[in-house]
Amino acid sequence: MQPKDTTNNEAFKGFTNTSCPFLPCHKGVQREFNCLFCYCPLIAYECPGPYEVFTDKNGVKRKDCSACTLPHDGYHQSWNFIQRWLEYPVPWSANEQTDPPTRRPKPPGSDEFED
Ligand code: SF4
Repeated sequence: MQPKDTTNNEAFKGFTNTSCPFLPCHKGVQREFNCLFCYCPLIAYECPGPYEVFTDKNGVKRKDCSACTLPHDGYHQSWNFIQRWLEYPVPWSANEQTDPPTRRPKPPGSDEFED
């Protein structure tokens, strides 16, 4: 299945669930709080977010994304962020975030990450 074209309809790019008992679940969001990516589509992929790595009870390394606002800060901005990073997804290495953070992957065949 091919990915669908991104939408120009702003109404699809975000919403705020004001009834959620956890809102605001991430501190530091400056714009509209976008709940659309409550379960971040980048959880299994390399990303630039400030995640911490922990090992769950089954011995699997996972991201703790508590400090990340990237999928939530502004409907338009967070939508664009997720679309850009899903263009060429690279499976997460299970390593800690780098400093500077991971750069956005390039198309297959070019160098793996953008400069
Ligand atoms: S650190 Fe941020 S961008 Fe990365 S997977 Fe977690 S919520 Fe998504």
